[in-house]
Amino acid sequence: RTEENLLEVNNIEVIYNHVILVLKGVSLKVPKGGITALLGGNGAGKTTTLKAISNLLHSERGEVTKGNILYRGERVQDLSPNDLVQKGVIQVMEGRHCFEHLTVEENLLTGAYTRKDGKGAIEADLQMVYNYFPRLKERRKSQAGYTSGGEQQMVAIGRALMSRPETILLDEPSMGLAPQLVEEIFTIVKNLNEKEGNTFLLAEQNTNVALRFAHYGYILESGRVVMDGPAADLRENPDVKEFYLGVS
Ligand code: ATP
Repeated sequence: RTEENLLEVNNIEVIYNHVILVLKGVSLKVPKGGITALLGGNGAGKTTTLKAISNLLHSERGEVTKGNILYRGERVQDLSPNDLVQKGVIQVMEGRHCFEHLTVEENLLTGAYTRKDGKGAIEADLQMVYNYFPRLKERRKSQAGYTSGGEQQMVAIGRALMSRPETILLDEPSMGLAPQLVEEIFTIVKNLNEKEGNTFLLAEQNTNVALRFAHYGYILESGRVVMDGPAADLRENPDVKEFYLGVS
C-alpha cells in the first residue's frame, strides 16, 4: 500500500505479569483516512494491541517487551496516554465507561479537557457531535447512567471526538448492542471517517459488520496476525467465510 501510514505497529510482543506472553509479534499499519479493523475471537489479543498502542498496559501489569510503535514515524510507546491524545490519538475503551452521574452533555465536555483553544471552538465541536449523534442531542440533559447501552457507546465516541483526534482506537463498539444499533454506530463511524476525515482502528469480534464498514482488516489468532487484506478480499476468502462469517 502506498498511502501514508499514520500508525505503524512493528513486531510487538506483550507480556503480562512478567510471564504471560500474549502478543507474539504483531505488526500492522493504519493508513491516514482509513478504517482498519482488528478482528479475532475472544482472547485473540485485540484489546491488548489497542492498549499497547495507547500505553494503557501498565495498570494491568502488562508491557511491550519487543518491537516498536510509531505514530507519524515517531516512536510513541514511552508517551503517556495524555501525551498521545495531544498527538491526536485517542482510545475509546471497551465497555463504554461513561461518568454515570454526569449528564450526557457534561460527559461530552469532559472530552475537551486537554484542549487549549477557546470556548467557542469547543461549543462548535459539541454541535458537530450532536450533528452526527442526534440521539445525544435529545438526551443531552439526561444522566448518562440512565441512558441505554447504545447511547452510552455514542457518548464514549462523542467524548473522544471532543478532543479533536486525528485517529480513534475503538474497542469492540458492537459489544452488547442489538443489531440495529450496531448498524447505526458503524454508519456514524463511516460518516465521521468520510466527512471529518478521522482515521479509525477498531477491534471487533463481529467480523461481519466490521468487514462491511472497514477498508482493511487484520485477523488475530492467539496473539499473531494470521491474515490481512482489503476488507472486500477478506469477505470473499473461504477461510474467513467459514471461520469468521459463519458461512461456507
Ligand atoms: P476480548 O474480546 O475478550 O477482549 P481480545 O482479543 O481483546 O479479547 P485480550 O483482551 O487482548 O483479547 O486478551 C488476550 C489474552 O491476554 C487473553 O488470553 C487474556 O486472558 C490475556 N490477558 C488479558 N489481560 C490480562 C492481564 N491483565 N493479565 C494476564 N493476562 C491477561
